[in-house]
Amino acid sequence: MPVGTQATVKGILPRDLINDLDAKIILGNTYHLFLRPGHETIRKLGGLHRFMNWPRAILTDSGGFQVFSLNSLRKVTEAGVLFQSHLNGDAHMFTPESTVEVQLALGSDIMMVLDECLEYPAKHDAARAAMDRTIRWARAAFEHFHKHDDGLHALFPIVQGSMYADLRKACTEQLMELDARGYAIGGLSVGEPRGLSLEMAEVTVPLLPKDRPRYVMGVGMPEELPEYVARGVDMMDCVLPSRNARNGYLFTSQGRVIIKQAQYKDDARPVDEACPCYSCKNFSRAYLRHLYLAGEITFSVLATLHNLHHYLDIMRGIRQAILLGNYPDYLRRARQRAAEAEKEAPKAASQFE
Ligand SMILES: [Zn+2]
Repeated sequence: MPVGTQATVKGILPRDLINDLDAKIILGNTYHLFLRPGHETIRKLGGLHRFMNWPRAILTDSGGFQVFSLNSLRKVTEAGVLFQSHLNGDAHMFTPESTVEVQLALGSDIMMVLDECLEYPAKHDAARAAMDRTIRWARAAFEHFHKHDDGLHALFPIVQGSMYADLRKACTEQLMELDARGYAIGGLSVGEPRGLSLEMAEVTVPLLPKDRPRYVMGVGMPEELPEYVARGVDMMDCVLPSRNARNGYLFTSQGRVIIKQAQYKDDARPVDEACPCYSCKNFSRAYLRHLYLAGEITFSVLATLHNLHHYLDIMRGIRQAILLGNYPDYLRRARQRAAEAEKEAPKAASQFE
């Protein structure tokens, strides 16, 4: 899922997301839309789909993750989380019930429950306390949701438990009682080593129902997508393709291209010779490098289009391999390519993350 934080996927029009990229679903951030322009404003204007002219599916998070990552002055109580707006310092509170209300006002297709997300590393007892609270909040959110459920929305609970396999398992088992239409795995990509995030997905996914979507929140690098799918994950979202695009970091089938580098000054080749996107069909690396160094908005537009195309193309390839029964082959080749790319350009990725 491309991430559309402020009712827009930065640097790209909905028209191009549909016609050029065929994105089926995007993610919106409840925290940001709640603060500005406000969910009641969006409700009055016909809901988020109409507001941003996005006719396809929208998934919204509960806002909890942003409260925990953007607010140093937050206060967690059993009722919910008290926080200050990062825009003007106003005090607000998110409760399990209120975040359902906000997401209903937005008209989200897939909504998330409020959860307590911890930083990494967290002690086992702190992680257990946050997990227990997450479960209680999920129950409260579902109780509230059932009063308003018109069959048009899904609400996903979120498995927490930090980096402890026993907590992940316990949390999953208890959330299963909610009989939800899909399940999310949260609290990953919070600074832990990548192998550990995969390990947590690996212990959690097999416990979730096979016939419902399983969604890992906030991952990952291109080479990680096949790994998550191999572990049974159906959905992912990540800001990396769009955010890195704006920073001049382009993902290609041959590894990364850091467009500001002098080696691309006279490079007439497209960013990725294997990519059929509009940017790659029509523009050279030299041109993109020029736009980037000149600080032109068009750079962000072309780079975002390419990076999102690259990500969505990986997912299309994965779906096709699964349908053809070739996924083990696909995975083996993907791992080979990742290992080769790692040999060529170790460590360069970290400066952008
Ligand atoms: Zn391209």
